[in-house]
Amino acid sequence: MKAITFHGVGDVRAEDVADPKVMEPTDVVLRITTSAVCGSDLHQYHGRAGALVQTGSVMGHEFMGVVDEVGPEVRRFTRGDRVIAPFSVSCGRCEWCARGLPTQCTTTQRAVFGGRWGHVFPGGQAERIRVPFADYLCEKVPAGMSDEDALFLGDILSTGYFCAENGGIRPGDAVAVFGAGPVGLLAMQSAQLFGPARVFAVDRVDYRLKLAEEFGAEPVNLDRGDPAAELRGLTGGRGPDVVLECVGHETPFTQAILAVRAGGTVSSVGVYVEPSMGFPVREAFFKDLSLKMGICNARNYMLPLMPLVQRGKLKPARIITHTMPLEDAPKGYAIFDKKEDRAIKVMLRP
Ligand code: NAD
Ligand code: ZN
Repeated sequence: MKAITFHGVGDVRAEDVADPKVMEPTDVVLRITTSAVCGSDLHQYHGRAGALVQTGSVMGHEFMGVVDEVGPEVRRFTRGDRVIAPFSVSCGRCEWCARGLPTQCTTTQRAVFGGRWGHVFPGGQAERIRVPFADYLCEKVPAGMSDEDALFLGDILSTGYFCAENGGIRPGDAVAVFGAGPVGLLAMQSAQLFGPARVFAVDRVDYRLKLAEEFGAEPVNLDRGDPAAELRGLTGGRGPDVVLECVGHETPFTQAILAVRAGGTVSSVGVYVEPSMGFPVREAFFKDLSLKMGICNARNYMLPLMPLVQRGKLKPARIITHTMPLEDAPKGYAIFDKKEDRAIKVMLRP
């Protein structure tokens, strides 16, 4: 089959690789109908410390498709079912899965499809994929729901919602979102469900800030000056009640802590692949702030968020700017990374 494989910094290629097969009785193999390029793939693409996968690895953890082969112990699915799955691979049975933290699965050692941590499971930027623990990981997609509406439930929509939920937003709050990429934009949509009075979007990419405005956010251009000072100015000198960090670098993380009001909450979902980084600890301490961060247990959100998408309260498909054939993924990565051609979310069709 054709798949997108990693070959070094800025180098992904469409190549022929072996077809996946059912290996364990609890596996299914999907024929992928849609996959996507995620901001987390860019950490590997950039060769960021800790994120590098092996040369030749199949990339991608955002995918959905139709069940094509079914292991003998799979009970909930049969050939032809259309399903989604979360980006992380978990067994559903270990202590952490049982506690509702499937990203901490001990069986898979915290694996992610197409990732380098834990056991290695080839990714979803491909024609087909093996999904282990299918009864636990997969969910059927209702017939009337498009791939565009369903796909992000397995990753970025759940992550954006989780970020907003962790912020503890209360009606009337002022909320600032760092990053108007796919995750930040969906965090803005999700934040609106909690009834804030104002939402600010911080980024430097004008066309992304434009879409943020469509989602009810007031744009704050990073390059106009210190965004923390700007946000304080916009909130009567006090700073936003809640700051959502959706970038994954030291600078926005620091700015989020500097921006939030005393006693406020910083909720961070940007992925940090480095083992440690700078942290404005004095400001955090004297502010009495609350900090929530982490990898999203998307498995827990896929079903609860589905009706919000079906009823149009969340409109994840609005962020899609490009849909291209799988073989064109190298171009998809490049424009998403460089913010060319007004790229926000790039979808791939095998
Ligand atoms: P993206 O790279 O398209 O978005 C990042 C955005 O941040 C860009 O628009 C960029 O211009 C902007 N930016 C850069 N520096 C900034 C700063 N100092 N202040 C404000 N904005 C700044 O990627 P994405 O797909 O939106 O992903 C965002 C982050 O979320 C990535 O780190 C990704 O790995 C992470 N992520 C986390 C989870 C999770 O489970 N926690 C899941 C999915 C993605
Ligand atoms: Zn992702």
